[in-house]
Amino acid sequence: MIIVLKKDEQAETIRNITDVLANNGFTHSVLPGAKYILIPVLGDFTTEDLGRFRSFKGVHKILKISAPYYLVTKEFREKTVVDLGDGVRIGDGFCTIAGPCSVESEESIREIASLLSKSGVRMLRGGTFKLRSSPYSFQGMGVEGLRLLNSAAREHNMKCISEISDIRNIDSFMEYVDVIQVGARNMQNYALLKELSTTKKPILLKRSPSATAEEFLLSAEYLLSGGNENVILCERGIKSFDSAFRNDINIASVPHYKHISHLPVILDPSHGIGVPTYIPAVAESAVVLGADGVMVEVHTDPSSALSDGFQALIPEKFLAMQKRISQLVDFVHNQMDS
Ligand code: PEP
Ligand code: MN
Repeated sequence: MIIVLKKDEQAETIRNITDVLANNGFTHSVLPGAKYILIPVLGDFTTEDLGRFRSFKGVHKILKISAPYYLVTKEFREKTVVDLGDGVRIGDGFCTIAGPCSVESEESIREIASLLSKSGVRMLRGGTFKLRSSPYSFQGMGVEGLRLLNSAAREHNMKCISEISDIRNIDSFMEYVDVIQVGARNMQNYALLKELSTTKKPILLKRSPSATAEEFLLSAEYLLSGGNENVILCERGIKSFDSAFRNDINIASVPHYKHISHLPVILDPSHGIGVPTYIPAVAESAVVLGADGVMVEVHTDPSSALSDGFQALIPEKFLAMQKRISQLVDFVHNQMDS
C-alpha cells in the first residue's frame, strides 16, 4: 500500500499521517519522488483504514500496488544515479568495477589497485567476509581486509565495494566501503535488507542463483521501501543444469531490468560464466545492452588466489578488455549523439 501526497505538501501534513501510521503499528517510510511524496506502508489496509487515510488532509491517493513492486519501477522515478563523490557516479556513463574475489594481503590489493587505476578503473572490489560453500575454504580477512581495501582504493583515488554477510559488521562497512555488496546468497535475507534499507549507504544487490527476476526486483523493493534510494542491481546468473558454465547468465536481463526500473544495472560475467576465456566478450556486450557497468574479478596470479582463481582475469586480459570497453562506450555514445 502506498500513500501518495503532492510533492509540495508541508512537513506538518506528512507528520500527521506518519504519526497515525506509527501509532497504529504500521511500518512505513517517507520517500520524496519527482512529482509526489510517497509513503509506502507495509501490509494491507482494512476498508476502514483506507477510508481513514484517504480523508487525511494532503492525501492525493492511495495506491494498492498491482505490480508486486512499485518503487523500483519507472512509474516512481525516471532514473537513479548513485553518486559516490569525486566524480564516481553509477548510472551515469559506464562503470567498471574490478578487483580480486578476496582481499588477500596488503601488498596484493595495493598492487592490483595501482594497476587497475592506471586503466581508468575508479571502483575497486574485494571480498573480506567470504561466503564459502566449504567451512575449510578461506573465509576472508574480515575487518582488516576492509581497512586494506579502503586504503588501497584511497591511495589511487578510487572508491571501493565489499560484500556484507552479517549485519553485526555494519559499522565497519559504513566506515570503510563506499558501496555495500549484498551477495547472491543473501538476496533473500530480508532481515539484512531491512536493516540496510534504513541507511543511506549505496547497496549493490546481486541476484540469487535461484531467484526469478521478479523476486530479485522485490528484494530491491525492500531496500527502497525502507528509505534507501541508493540501490544498484547486479545480474550474476542463475543455477542451471549446464556444467559448461559456472552459472547461466541471461544477458537479456539487462534490457529487462532497464525497461522496468530506474535503478542502475551492473553485469557480473565473472560469477555468471566462471570461464575467463568468455568473460571479456560478455563484459563488452554489456555496453551495447545498455548496462551501467560491469563487475569483473582480476588477479595478478590466479593460480595462487585464495578464492575463485579459476575465473579471474589476468591483468593483460583485463586491460585489453577495458580498452575495448572504452572504444565501445565511445562508439555507442557517438551513435546516440548522431
Ligand atoms: C562475489 O562477488 O565475490 C560473490 C561472492 O558473488 P556472488 O554473491 O554473485 O556469488
Ligand atoms: Mn568471487
